[in-house]
Amino acid sequence: MSVAKGPAGEKVRVIAIDGPAGSGKSTVARRLAERLGLEYLDTGAMYRSVAFAAMAREIDLADADAIVEVAQTSDIRVEDTAVIVDGVDATTQIRGPEVTRSVSTVAAISGVREVLRVRQQAWVLERGGGVLEGRDIGTAVFPDADLKVYLSASAAVRAKRRAGEVSALDYETVAAELAARDAADSTRQHDPLVQAPDAVHLDTTDLSIDEVVDELLARLR
Ligand code: C5P
Repeated sequence: MSVAKGPAGEKVRVIAIDGPAGSGKSTVARRLAERLGLEYLDTGAMYRSVAFAAMAREIDLADADAIVEVAQTSDIRVEDTAVIVDGVDATTQIRGPEVTRSVSTVAAISGVREVLRVRQQAWVLERGGGVLEGRDIGTAVFPDADLKVYLSASAAVRAKRRAGEVSALDYETVAAELAARDAADSTRQHDPLVQAPDAVHLDTTDLSIDEVVDELLARLR
């Protein structure tokens, strides 16, 4: 059975949006989901939640087996406006500098990816479809998605967007950390960030959110 089929074999509608940090994935995915009447899943928040749970349990990030166990045993709820990890509201902390610096290490562990991939596929099947954004949605989680999108933008614009969201850090720090995270995500062994051969590639450097969303809706029609 293909993963893009419901329990009775019916087709479910899946839109996969991948790309590096600051490429506009979250805003575009949210808006597209609204326009299509689908739910939206931020899979990065799930990886961030595993990093958060590991830190909360004081687990050494170099201990891959222990981190996989954290992924298996933690209760992660990514809701529309809040992220709850083991009953704790982690919405703000998962976006903080500590989690941001360690999330790529956690995401490079194949056992962690396996656990989260299965949860992401189940999430879609429970809802009969969805718009998912991340790094490996079109390549690993839903390789037969109805539409695969790869968003990019210049490094300077991506860092500027992120620096605007993280007021505690200056632009230079954000730019350097973003470049390091992109490099780690793109070169890791398991499900690295790469554009799927059949993905629609949009460079959002000079595009507004509406322009991107309209272009994707046109592709779906
Ligand atoms: O999207 P966001 O920047 O919040 O993702 C945080 C991190 O989670 C990424 O830098 C990457 O290491 C990991 N990630 C991943 N696969 C996904 C989504 C996120 O490896 N599908």
